[in-house]
Amino acid sequence: MRPSRRLRPSRHQRPSRLRPTGRVGPAALLATVLVGLLGAALLAPAPVAAEDERAAAVVPASAETISVEVPPEEGAPGGYRDVPVAPPTQGAEALRGDARAGRVDGKVRALSKTGPSRDRLDVVITGDGYTAAQQDDFRADARARWQQLTSIEPYKSYRGLMNVWMVQAVSRDSGIDRDRNTDPGNVNDKRTALGAYFWCNGLERLICVNVRAVGRYAAKAPQAELAVVVANSSRYGGAGYFDGLRGLTGIATLSSDNPYSSEIGSHEVGHALGKLADEYWSCGSCGYGSTREAAEPNVTVHGSVAYLRDNSRKWYRWLGETDPTGGTVGVHQGGKYVARGIWRPTENSIMRSLGLGFNLPGQESMINGFYRYAQPVSSNVRGGTRISRTRLIKLRLASLGDLAALQVRWYRNGKEVVAARGRTTLRPSALGVPARGRHTVKVRVADRTGAVRSPRIRANAARTISWTVR
Ligand SMILES: [Zn+2]
Repeated sequence: MRPSRRLRPSRHQRPSRLRPTGRVGPAALLATVLVGLLGAALLAPAPVAAEDERAAAVVPASAETISVEVPPEEGAPGGYRDVPVAPPTQGAEALRGDARAGRVDGKVRALSKTGPSRDRLDVVITGDGYTAAQQDDFRADARARWQQLTSIEPYKSYRGLMNVWMVQAVSRDSGIDRDRNTDPGNVNDKRTALGAYFWCNGLERLICVNVRAVGRYAAKAPQAELAVVVANSSRYGGAGYFDGLRGLTGIATLSSDNPYSSEIGSHEVGHALGKLADEYWSCGSCGYGSTREAAEPNVTVHGSVAYLRDNSRKWYRWLGETDPTGGTVGVHQGGKYVARGIWRPTENSIMRSLGLGFNLPGQESMINGFYRYAQPVSSNVRGGTRISRTRLIKLRLASLGDLAALQVRWYRNGKEVVAARGRTTLRPSALGVPARGRHTVKVRVADRTGAVRSPRIRANAARTISWTVR
């Protein structure tokens, strides 16, 4: 039987914002960075207090901090804590790559390139604690973790909307700080490119990074929008930054060789891309404490199916549907860290427990997240331009899986040419565009997936390209 891995969250309802306590750059001030970490009951019981204090003591307060979502440990509530954006212990001396690495450091390789970056969600995977000699190992780990992380829907069907880049970060030492699997002394003794470390803020399984270093490496890839940091370790751990500096929508950290790393990644990217709330709680006696509607798409303060339905709120389009996680979509009390006063769509889901899939409202939000950065179609002829009626237009549809359903429709002067439905290559003359005069040709590629019901998200999952023909 699979061990229970119910997530157990904090008693705090909302993380505090990025809180500068010293000199801070404008980009940092604008960013609200949250780090979410999954709890895991299968882990060893809570470490003894002495270890906790020792671990906390080796990361002194930074001039600049960000809020971190941390899991409670057995018998101890979790919460949000502030951790350094760039730990001072990882200054010029500790945080660096290997000068001997030369051009190996910072080298970008495509793990999966499916289209032009302007039409794709560009994901950067970078590794920490890999030496120059271990870069093959890094790339193998990156491939394996990404493959696993995206093996559940809707990632699986929508891999074709993503470019995935591996950015090599060469560390002087192998392994990351305070990994007791390799470093029983539990000290800062690894000099690594991204400064990843366990025991972030005194919590064993919270893997924090130097956010600025991650941003520098991510920027080497084209249009990086989401970063995944694979830390060279077999110890359970990870974190999810809901937002990132330097244009990143989020950063997920995970360890390279733990069996649950990919599940952590799937959950954390759910925050970063789907903007989903956690659907778990640990504070059994506390309520949400507000009647103001929650911002996330998968939680509500309205604990009534009739209310959601009659007022067209939140996941009302899915109410009563059988959910892939089992059960029926309705309103289930508890979520967003508290047991009362807030409701989630289904009894269980990946936003509540590892090893499960997204529920229907979660899937829809994830697909919305993919299309926030990606387009279902690219064209060889730039839209908005003037072309001749014999110009060959070639469309390249994103290669998507079972959940998606791309539909191609062509229009001549605003009227659909039904006979051309589904065509991806044609000349305007084939649409009956006359030889004389000025006309418009338009193609609309829309994802008619049954996993999306919101008209707003449907509109987001479509692209229209038009040309003037004369
Ligand atoms: Zn979470």
